[in-house]
Amino acid sequence: MPTALITGIGGQDGSYLAEMLLANGYRVVGTVPDDDPANIDRIRHLLGRVEIVRDDLLDQDRLERLFAEHRPDEVYNFAANSVLAASFRQPIAATLVLAMGVTRILESIRKIAPRTRFFQASSSEIFGKPAEVPQTETTPFHPRNPYGVSKAYGHLMTMTYRENYGLFACSGILYNHESPRRSPEFVTRKITLAAARIKLGLAKELRLGNLDARRDWGFAGDYVRAMWLMLQRPQPDDYVLATGETHSVRDLCEEAFSHVGLDYREHVVQEAESFRPPETSQLVGNPAKAGRDLDWKPTVTFRELVRMMVDADLEEMRRSS
Ligand code: GDP
Repeated sequence: MPTALITGIGGQDGSYLAEMLLANGYRVVGTVPDDDPANIDRIRHLLGRVEIVRDDLLDQDRLERLFAEHRPDEVYNFAANSVLAASFRQPIAATLVLAMGVTRILESIRKIAPRTRFFQASSSEIFGKPAEVPQTETTPFHPRNPYGVSKAYGHLMTMTYRENYGLFACSGILYNHESPRRSPEFVTRKITLAAARIKLGLAKELRLGNLDARRDWGFAGDYVRAMWLMLQRPQPDDYVLATGETHSVRDLCEEAFSHVGLDYREHVVQEAESFRPPETSQLVGNPAKAGRDLDWKPTVTFRELVRMMVDADLEEMRRSS
């Protein structure tokens, strides 16, 4: 039975990946940052089937002991606060986990378990202000926030250990991926929660920033499948994981509200103070290489994704009321 170690197992991706790996016959060990019950919510249904340990990404000795104890065959690194604004508020703390955490894992693998296969959750934010549209695995990096800078570091360090030490280490360049487990700070979930609340008469209005901002949004369940496929290849390599399509925040509102029979224009207020500093809306990935090598393509469309999220929020609210 292969063993997988998932850092940040309590997040959206960690929880989907853990489910998939358990179904594939893996033993799963996962880290969470602290004892906050919020870190367990998404994996509560898996407790007893996965082994949970405290996060050790800030402590090299403890991390190495974790590797020595569990000898993972595969490691997936999701340990991060993926809310961009948090990286501006706490750039040093963000760097310690997002950037240095990757080196700590790579060092542990190199020293203790050099046959371990490593997946690094890289990000479209490494392209920030993109040099080309759509982006591919060879597009130059130009991150524009501390999160993107740290992810660029992690990406390059993963490549460096692959090239210098021959480790099976790869980065998936992940574009926005969403699900009913997405945290409400992200605009998709903010909108689907609000559409459900307004439908049930629990709220009237939703205040958003720029409705014309565009993103390449996919379904998280599809993306974790690609991550696993990357680690089953004969050779390690980096892949863009994206849908190749963009939609606007307005499209999201339209889809979510119309799904519950509402007109978003009667409920959504665009407020200038929530606009982000100038952002390009040109982050869109070309997933052709993943299609070719991994035989991967997203199975959930934008419309299906939004509907899935609204339905899940409605069901949860009805159950808890
Ligand atoms: P990000 O790609 O990691 O920044 O994901 P988000 O879901 O936070 O934001 C996606 C896009 O939605 C960005 O371009 C935001 O500017 C835009 N957006 C518009 N209104 C809002 C809002 O109220 N909250 C958030 N989080 N984003 C918003």
